Amino acid sequence: MCNLRTSLLALVRVAVAWAVSVGFFASPVSAGQNIISKTVEPAVIPCKRSSGAVVTVRTDLPASSVVIDLEAGGTVPFLAINSTTFSAALTPAQLLFDYFPDDVNRNLVGLIKVTGAAQEETDVKNLFVNVDDSSVTDVQVVTSASDMRCAPHVVNLLVPAGDPSELWESLVGQEASILTRFYEEFGDDYDFANVVYLHPDSFLNRDHFAVKNDVSGIGQPLIDQTAQYGSAGALRGITRFPLDTVFDLAEPGAQHELGHQWINFLVGPPLLAGGSPHWPPSQLARGLMGATIPATGAGGTFPFDIVPTGTGFELVASPSTGLYTQLDLYLMGFVESRAVPPFLVLDPPGQPLAVGPVTASQLTVNDVIAVHGARNPSAASAPKHFRMATIVVTRTGFLTNRQLAFFDHFAARGEAVAPVTFASGFQKGTANPFAVATQGIGSLDTSLTCPIPEFEPPPFEEVAICRFCPPDPCTNCPGLIRAIDQLIYPEVRVADVLAGLHAKLLSAGAAYQRGQLKVAANVLKAFLNQIRAQQGEALSEQAATAITALTFGAARALQIPIERGIER
Ligand SMILES: [Zn+2]
Repeated sequence: MCNLRTSLLALVRVAVAWAVSVGFFASPVSAGQNIISKTVEPAVIPCKRSSGAVVTVRTDLPASSVVIDLEAGGTVPFLAINSTTFSAALTPAQLLFDYFPDDVNRNLVGLIKVTGAAQEETDVKNLFVNVDDSSVTDVQVVTSASDMRCAPHVVNLLVPAGDPSELWESLVGQEASILTRFYEEFGDDYDFANVVYLHPDSFLNRDHFAVKNDVSGIGQPLIDQTAQYGSAGALRGITRFPLDTVFDLAEPGAQHELGHQWINFLVGPPLLAGGSPHWPPSQLARGLMGATIPATGAGGTFPFDIVPTGTGFELVASPSTGLYTQLDLYLMGFVESRAVPPFLVLDPPGQPLAVGPVTASQLTVNDVIAVHGARNPSAASAPKHFRMATIVVTRTGFLTNRQLAFFDHFAARGEAVAPVTFASGFQKGTANPFAVATQGIGSLDTSLTCPIPEFEPPPFEEVAICRFCPPDPCTNCPGLIRAIDQLIYPEVRVADVLAGLHAKLLSAGAAYQRGQLKVAANVLKAFLNQIRAQQGEALSEQAATAITALTFGAARALQIPIERGIER
């Protein structure tokens, strides 16, 4: 299943707004019901011996239906837990269809489509999943605090929901409290932080913002907001990854976002300021920072070179270099101004981007210095080696050790000093990690110094850890049962009913882990009987019906024999 490439089906594919991609796409989505968050349980699909997964999406407004058009063929409807929460159990064959090594641990499952109240399609999103295969090696994991489990390159921070309904709310935007909690346990030893959101995640692009800027001459004001983030002054900036399936510190998008620590904030000369926060159509846009797409401000590739013809200039097709340009490296503090060659910029900038004649102006780094002054510190003393911390935020319990190893793998790749194969959304190819993209001048250390708590932490046991994380999800359960547990929390509003249902899922999961399928079946039957008894009471008719169907789907996937002896 992990190495079967078959012909691609002619499905409609919609590009997500990757920071570095040909971003000139139109979204068919109109205003209306949009997916605001998503979970896949388990968060990483084992390439071998997968039992499948439960995918849950949450919409901002009540929707009438959600379906997924599968790459494997066919359409699977999601079950409506309530008017804004929809879940589907997918099989290993559906999740891992057409997975191949060049997919680099991410697989396209299909296209999720949301239908609004008026039966019109209101949102479509590509579903990619994380895939665990033999390229991911096990890592040592330590419990650093009751809410933190730390691996060599990534820490999993558990931020429980205060109320069950918050389980489905992404924490994007709450970096100040996330980083403040991080620094209560970790040293102030990191120049940059990456925050990866998972359980739930959201279909938002990555971005980067500066926390501190002590560099003049690049158009950024001097700021120091480190205290707001709990850092004693070392933290320079934060890159956010609202969608965990594009987290990879080796791939071009990660280098692009890091580049935004310094680029492009130039307020002059006017031709360069007009391209901010990337570059205008120019030779500068051929590098990792790309060109700003007018109207959206998003970064897109500029797959052209500007070539003198003797009498003027013309655009010729030429792929992105995948490197920072010399002016980029100057602004980053990696090369002196004398290393920056003159560069051509389309003038005026709004010319059609097509192969053929154009008008252009030549600028030099001295045009930048004339407006902003020389970069200070200069390349002679500016730092070129950076430490980076990666925090994976979850709300519904910790990742397993193997899932942590998966994210550790993609954080560790940021240190690579040679090109690597990558896949990011529909982009695939060879990526230049930071050391390569900076032509060997810069380097990243993505390792964490895991705090060892003063008390002797108990050996890791998921049920025990669970006590620290209201609403106490079924972390000891296999992913599919755990997904059902997460669904009942926001739906069942009577505490003792919730406790009873949760206890049954917990013991069904534990029995399954012990290989006692008949015991698991009996407990799941009791769970379903209680759901039926509470239908229209402690939980809605709709939720009871959907959760019952999901439980049957999960049991089938796990080969737990509950079909007999249950009235359906
Ligand atoms: Zn950008």
